Amino acid sequence: RAPIPRADGATPAMAQWFVAKAAHPDALVFFRMGDFFEMFFSDAEAASEALDIALTYRGEHRGQPIAMCGVPAHAVDSYLARLIRRGFRVAICDQMETPEEAKRRKAPTIRREVVRVVTPGTVTEEALLDASRPAWLLALAPDGARIGAAWLDVSTGAFQTEALPLAALPALLARLDPAEVVAPEALAGDPALAPVLGLLAVAAPSSDPGARLADAYGVATLEGFGVFSGPEIAAATMAVDYVRATQAGVLPRLSPPAPQGGRGLLQMDAATRRSLEILKGERGGAKDCLLGAVDRTVTAAGARELAARLSAPLADAEAIAARHDAVGFLIDAAALRGAMRAALKGAPDMARALARLSLDRFAPRDLAAIRDGLARAGAIAAALADPAGMPPLPSLLREAASALEWQGPQPELARALAETLPARLEDGGLVAPGYDGELDALRRLRDDARGAIAALQMELAQAWGVASLKIKHHQQFGYLAELPLAAGETLLRKPPAAPHAPIHRQTMANAMRFTCTALAELDRKLSEAGDRARQRERRIAQHLRKLCLDAAGPVAASAQALAECDVHAGAAEIAAAGAWCRPELGARAEFAVTAARHPVVEAALARARGPAFVPNDCDLSAGRRLCLLTGPNMAGKSTYLRQNALLVILAQAGLFIPAEHAVLGIVDRLFSRVGASDDLAGGRSTFMVEMAETAAILNQATDRSLVVLDEVGRGTATWDGLAIAWAVLEALHDRIRCRAIFATHFHELTALAGKLPELAPATMQVREWRGSVVFQHSVAPGAAEKSWGLHVARLAGVPRGVVTRAEAVLKALEERARGLDPLSDELPLFARPAPVRQPDAAPPPVLEALAAIDPDALSPREAQEALYRLKTLL
Ligand code: ADP
Repeated sequence: RAPIPRADGATPAMAQWFVAKAAHPDALVFFRMGDFFEMFFSDAEAASEALDIALTYRGEHRGQPIAMCGVPAHAVDSYLARLIRRGFRVAICDQMETPEEAKRRKAPTIRREVVRVVTPGTVTEEALLDASRPAWLLALAPDGARIGAAWLDVSTGAFQTEALPLAALPALLARLDPAEVVAPEALAGDPALAPVLGLLAVAAPSSDPGARLADAYGVATLEGFGVFSGPEIAAATMAVDYVRATQAGVLPRLSPPAPQGGRGLLQMDAATRRSLEILKGERGGAKDCLLGAVDRTVTAAGARELAARLSAPLADAEAIAARHDAVGFLIDAAALRGAMRAALKGAPDMARALARLSLDRFAPRDLAAIRDGLARAGAIAAALADPAGMPPLPSLLREAASALEWQGPQPELARALAETLPARLEDGGLVAPGYDGELDALRRLRDDARGAIAALQMELAQAWGVASLKIKHHQQFGYLAELPLAAGETLLRKPPAAPHAPIHRQTMANAMRFTCTALAELDRKLSEAGDRARQRERRIAQHLRKLCLDAAGPVAASAQALAECDVHAGAAEIAAAGAWCRPELGARAEFAVTAARHPVVEAALARARGPAFVPNDCDLSAGRRLCLLTGPNMAGKSTYLRQNALLVILAQAGLFIPAEHAVLGIVDRLFSRVGASDDLAGGRSTFMVEMAETAAILNQATDRSLVVLDEVGRGTATWDGLAIAWAVLEALHDRIRCRAIFATHFHELTALAGKLPELAPATMQVREWRGSVVFQHSVAPGAAEKSWGLHVARLAGVPRGVVTRAEAVLKALEERARGLDPLSDELPLFARPAPVRQPDAAPPPVLEALAAIDPDALSPREAQEALYRLKTLL
């Protein structure tokens, strides 16, 4: 934060700037001056750099030139969008009166006030939002070892809370991927917040949170909304207070907060999410992630719903099955699905339109969005009501149909809104003819006056004898008759008498402008009618806005139902198109898939018109819970690991999965550690990160979890690494007893198969063909037989001489190692843990002497002597 200069000696307008800046020191102040928003001092420097606009200096403050830059007010949204994306907050300080009004008050300058603060988590404008992503504002209220979290999306009104252990915060941040985080100062330094530090707004905890929150909803108690813990209420109140502060006191429509505690979700930590690339890919391409590969939704709200489901899959079999029922039904009902998707395509984003309406920051198209959204909802409800020849609707579709049926304000909006709508309310023309008698009368008056002006133009042309006379409208003077210069001069010399007496208004280079009493009268009538029509339209717009807001609950429910229909129909679409199946959910910890594919890699190969993806089975049922996977690099190990984890996410999110057949016991926690995870910013070595992540698994996984682990121990010296991999594998097998796939390059580990009954070795199949390696990408039982490193080196173009030399070195090493088989039971690493002391061996003398001592019988002096004696026995 750059220092703000002292305010004394400022001009009246600058004094207003200082007041605004003092109230919003963390924001850039956009200071309205006529048609521009200006920034000053350090704000100007920061904004000119971020926006790449010119920095100028004007005037002086305390002897120093004032740095400033500005953006035109009409294009302010696009500049705001860029600043928000760069992590800035912007306080909009607007003019609250016209210069004339200020003059009338005899005020030294126009009154200006901060009308809102634009922050990444509180925006509602289309230009500032990502249509397919929620914009979560997350508030955090710590309470000892726990933390209350509340997240809301101002742009849709969604609002949820949860209380969690402080240690679970990184997982929540990864799940929500918030646009902005509000937390008290005390939490700001917590390392868990490091990844979101750039999004952090520091706020004091709210006082009297429960009552204030209830107040915001106009209820006496929050009990009706669910059961909240203290920290949840504290966080929810912070969130609401923050939103209210950014909107200068106005609160947008928000759904009541919904406590998430106890809602069965599949738990995934931050590292797992990163490794699986659920909502965004490492390379940043929209297609390179699970969402990108499986998204067949046709609306932005549907895409948001799908993203929400993929980032928070369920762990409740019944709820998941309900979603599968809906998808399965729509696969069979192809005609219905087609009709639904056709109606959904281009359906407007009602939730976000509603948010803008609630903040009174709406455009005509937001009213149209409610009108058209509800109409499409009605069409889908009608299609669902009569799915020809189909069995009864599954429960989720039945519920959606009843939410979609409701039409509320739709018919009135349809009557009220004009066919083509203006971009802004001020432009006029929002209301359709025939809707409002008074408005129609005003418009008739206006049209009559326009007709009268056309008639007057002919009349004046005759009376003044100038055929080329034109009546035109001017911003400043209203309607004026315009003549060529020479004709104007003649007219002035010999002016006709009333009622056509000309009144001179303006002389220009080659024209003159006149009015006359009749024209002035018409002009007055017209502008009066125009003003009154605009006023009337504003009132009608407010009436329509109120209609929508009074129906906000059902409109939001309808919007949500549309989004869900979109997700279900999209899931059915992708499943119907290519060999996807409904996973059978089991209560036992099973996992058996046949001919399964990695949806992202499969789609990428198809796009590149490369070789087809090779499907693979995976069976982690009882008796073979642990799959130990070996194979050379590039053989497809990581793909296989991720694939099986992604199948769990898809299945538990309620989608079908890319496989021929699948039996899946519900997974409670999913752990994935695939691919290098450097934490250079965190200053930890790759190995340290790897061990921390492994520790997290060993401490949190249960017998219901699925763990996919790649190359544990690769980050350290061979023997260390092997030892660690060994111990981890044993812990997964004996203690945690989870389902797991464990990929390793320690071929030595495969010898364990005989010792750990649940361990099933598998390997990526590779063939040698004409001296080079062919990866078959298929998984087979057994262990990799040979080190393929040298072949891969040759394939990669390592010079022939180096490869030959490496072959010789390898041979020598293998010969030396022959006498030292690391897997023989004689080596302590792989022997069963040895007892501390052989029972038949005599105890060492020092222990015998120690056993003979009776501490209670010793004086301090004797005790000291005994110690000396013991030391001599060591
Ligand atoms: P590894 O982890 O063994 O080094 P990867 O999983 O990264 O190997 O796979 C290497 C490449 O092989 C990937 O880029 C992918 O395109 C391809 N591949 C992996 N699995 C398959 C498969 N089942 N079918 C087709 N191609 C695959």
